[in-house]
Amino acid sequence: MSTSNCPGLLHIVPTRDGGICRIRLSGGMLSAAHAEALAHAAEQYASGPIDVTNRANLQVRGIRAGHEAAFSMALIQAGLGPGGQCDLSPQAAAAQDTVRNLMISPVAGRDPAATIDTRPVAEALLAMLLAEPRFAQLSPKFALMLDGGERLAMREHPHDIWLLALPRTCPDADACVQFAFGFAGCPPSGIELASVSRAWGATSPSQVTALVRALLHAFLDLAQPGQSRMRDLLVTHSPEQLLQQARTYLDFAPAPVPEWPQTIPADPMLRFGPHRQRDASRWWIGAQPPLGRLDTSTLRALAQLAREVSASSTLHMTPWQGVLLPDVAQQDIDRTMSALTRLGFACTGREPLARMIACTGSSGCARALADTKADATALAQRLGASHDIHLSGCPRSCAAAHQSAHTLLAVAPGTYDMYRRDGSTGFGTCAARHVSLEQAAGEIARSARSTSDV
Ligand code: SF4
Repeated sequence: MSTSNCPGLLHIVPTRDGGICRIRLSGGMLSAAHAEALAHAAEQYASGPIDVTNRANLQVRGIRAGHEAAFSMALIQAGLGPGGQCDLSPQAAAAQDTVRNLMISPVAGRDPAATIDTRPVAEALLAMLLAEPRFAQLSPKFALMLDGGERLAMREHPHDIWLLALPRTCPDADACVQFAFGFAGCPPSGIELASVSRAWGATSPSQVTALVRALLHAFLDLAQPGQSRMRDLLVTHSPEQLLQQARTYLDFAPAPVPEWPQTIPADPMLRFGPHRQRDASRWWIGAQPPLGRLDTSTLRALAQLAREVSASSTLHMTPWQGVLLPDVAQQDIDRTMSALTRLGFACTGREPLARMIACTGSSGCARALADTKADATALAQRLGASHDIHLSGCPRSCAAAHQSAHTLLAVAPGTYDMYRRDGSTGFGTCAARHVSLEQAAGEIARSARSTSDV
């Protein structure tokens, strides 16, 4: 069933600027030691940049022809392969690599407002995914989301199966948490009470692994050739049929969806700057590398900074293609912010490139009709202020799985169709066709003046 040409640890895909390797990170987390190993391997075997992806993974570009296997083995031996094992054979690593598509909040276990710490549940899910050989048949794009109710969470990114922790009124809050679940989309937000029908049941944290395992087997049982994603299956089968098939793998029945509580809305601006953690003596500090792109010396500098200021010596990638340093003591906040600023990162959402994303563009992708990265930089300079903008070299939208306030879709070098977010599908409503960067900047600035910005 897996026919995608999606890059992976051992599936290095050739492109205009060399091979691409995607390194799936558990919960977006990268230890300082792993960051240094990755920088070392990229220096040895690649010549391109390192991109943070919209699933909080990393992608190394420009892997030199003939060095693909050596690059992959260097990462596996450093512990960046499935399950962190350093002695996996290439065959075993390839079989397990692509099933690790599980997104959690970059501040899972650290946000004081979260309903539950999802990290133990996520660990159990990943172990289950790796232990079932049949799940290697899933598409490398088949993705799960486990949302613990954190304020910093990418809820607009559709997933094949999503689970959202619902807060309950109960003497023992943790024991009372239930995960509502749904398919092929996003969880409803706190204000979309009418959308509760998008959830198909609920389960306790201890039953999540068994439930997801059953749903994945049911998906594989029912999917026909060509149905690689949940949305494809739901064209021919109802969610009730999927659940009925899943029940054959379960010794319990999922509970009905409970009354939907008023959940705390996500606030993506918490990806910038310092924020106090659940352990009130520690902070996370978020920052945005320009257009989600790092070079090896920046990655090494981040690793060194994590060793110096993060009690866990880790970096967390975010689905906004940014980086968080967790577990920073209050007295280290200023120097961490200064170090990130020196690296060229945006530490507030006010900087012109802070909320701008762009796909690889014509410098590395043969499909691209424009040099989106260079155009994004030029557009940010013209605007001189922060706006939520996505530049895409073609309709595949590799840089964003959600809808940005403004999307510029390339039609020719330096020329774009402009879309505005309106809640409809795709990029939103087309507001102007064939605009230059200058015209796009004018339109976006006008739109920001006539609304409360976006
Ligand atoms: S969105 Fe299109 S042009 Fe941009 S990187 Fe993806 S395939 Fe290439």
